[in-house]
Amino acid sequence: MNTNKKLCVVKTINNLERIKRSWKGEIGFVPTMGYLHDGHLSLIKKARKENDKVIVSIFVNPKQFNSKNDYKNYPKDTKRDLEILKHANVDCVFLPSDLELYPKEYSTHIKVEEISDILEGKSRTGHFKGVATIVLKLLNVTRADRAYFGQKDIQQTKVIKKMVKDLNLKTKIVVCKTIREKDGLAKSSRNILLNNNQRKEAAVLFESLVAAQRLFKSRIYDCQKIKSEMKKILNKKNCKVDYISIVNPNKFSEVKNAKKGCIVTLAVYFGKIRLIDNIIL
Ligand code: AMP
Repeated sequence: MNTNKKLCVVKTINNLERIKRSWKGEIGFVPTMGYLHDGHLSLIKKARKENDKVIVSIFVNPKQFNSKNDYKNYPKDTKRDLEILKHANVDCVFLPSDLELYPKEYSTHIKVEEISDILEGKSRTGHFKGVATIVLKLLNVTRADRAYFGQKDIQQTKVIKKMVKDLNLKTKIVVCKTIREKDGLAKSSRNILLNNNQRKEAAVLFESLVAAQRLFKSRIYDCQKIKSEMKKILNKKNCKVDYISIVNPNKFSEVKNAKKGCIVTLAVYFGKIRLIDNIIL
């Protein structure tokens, strides 16, 4: 870990390109929306190991929010993020403004069909269109050899992998395991928005996923049964289930009987805060 090096922060695409011109070797890229935590840092660590240069972007992408309030309330603390990144040994932080990425009269969007319309895409209309658009733009700007994403947003990784394949992009998409709090809650920038009681109760997401895994291991494959056991666990807390789904890992289509490799995924509201998580059987 290099803590003495001055952090290189660039705000424009031109400056990023200028800096990159002097670089040799492979580039690893970690896109984030900031309010960094250990989940983000685990992606950076892996990128550091596998590449000569590492770029981290911080950009709260307005296009992937389907609710104005959610966008407005999304946690933001750039000073804190840059302080954290000083100790993360990254070569460059890309910190663009909204106008840098979406100048006036911006009009091009990417839609990865089918997978973008289910689960997260169904609950958050337009979300994956926003995600695919920003990720494609950032991959074009960084020209990264590898880009790192978290399993926590598993449907997002599928959308991005499909886009990369369909559009013949050269970047390799690397999916990293979910980093959790001690009680199992997946680390997330949004966790800070939970009140004390909600924060305690939110451990129930992982508890329900572990229960699903346990049922599967004890040879209960009926998804209705697994989901209803998960619901029972979740319903003990003051939360509202948006969806619980057990899907095939390729198409993300719902399955009736669970098999090894299937994904159990869920979205749950604690008050207005919506949390997601998943586990691979
Ligand atoms: P975000 O800033 O929430 O958009 O996340 C940026 C990247 O970090 C995405 O690829 C996320 O999937 C990943 N990420 C977020 N939380 C975690 C976590 N708890 N463990 C691993 N990766 C994560």
